[in-house]
Amino acid sequence: MTDPAIRASGLRKRYGDVQALDGLELSVDRGEFFGLLGPNGAGKTTFINTLVGLVHSDQGTAEVFGFDVEDDYREVRDRIGLAPQEFNVDRFFPIIEVLEHKAGYHGIPRDEARERAEEALKTVGIWDKRDTRFDWLSGGMKRRLMLARALVSDPDLLILDEPTAGVDVQLRHDLWDIINRMNDAGTTILLTTHYIEEAERLCDRVAIMDDGRKVEVATPDDLMARGTDTIVLELAD
Ligand code: ATP
Repeated sequence: MTDPAIRASGLRKRYGDVQALDGLELSVDRGEFFGLLGPNGAGKTTFINTLVGLVHSDQGTAEVFGFDVEDDYREVRDRIGLAPQEFNVDRFFPIIEVLEHKAGYHGIPRDEARERAEEALKTVGIWDKRDTRFDWLSGGMKRRLMLARALVSDPDLLILDEPTAGVDVQLRHDLWDIINRMNDAGTTILLTTHYIEEAERLCDRVAIMDDGRKVEVATPDDLMARGTDTIVLELAD
């Protein structure tokens, strides 16, 4: 039996008085488009950060394609592309260089890094901005760049933390198309969102998180059939 793309068992993380992850159990299949929903502070970003090695859990384990995220960090790192919520990019570099640096970080040789960077910029539709500094891009272009940076290493697992937060309808649809194409090509996707419509349009299954735990896993259709008010009420209990 092949390992799932993601497996979390009894994952716990505390920040001072806050139990950000409280025994999280979760499994995401290979090739799946999986959504994480939940109110602010539910623990979604903390979970993502444990997968990419930015946060060390206090207890429990997390695996990506069967590799332990802490013990086999290098194996995991090169299989994941992360588009974080925050724009954590060096703003003075031309964006083509931002992507080349990222490819280099994944051990991709210089010539190939250039090709990968160009390809990623074309994929997200900002090839013509390749020599522009990050801080001269519009907000929407910055979102596109974050996706390009996640794609540059050709990851098996793409993690998108609220990738369409604050963008206009046109860009949201463009980003959905790009992400869907990645999933159709076999990339596993883990996406956090506050938009139930986004989950419905994209995800095979979603997990509802609250207080650092998984409340349930369902198909978006099941959630929609119950009505979004119900989801909000359940989370407020
Ligand atoms: P949102 O939807 O607002 O992005 P989230 O579900 O991603 O929320 P997290 O960002 O994981 O939630 O936060 C979970 C809890 O942990 C929150 O109460 C948050 O304030 C707290 N937290 C997260 N990171 C830290 C940190 N570095 N130091 C202290 N507390 C933190």
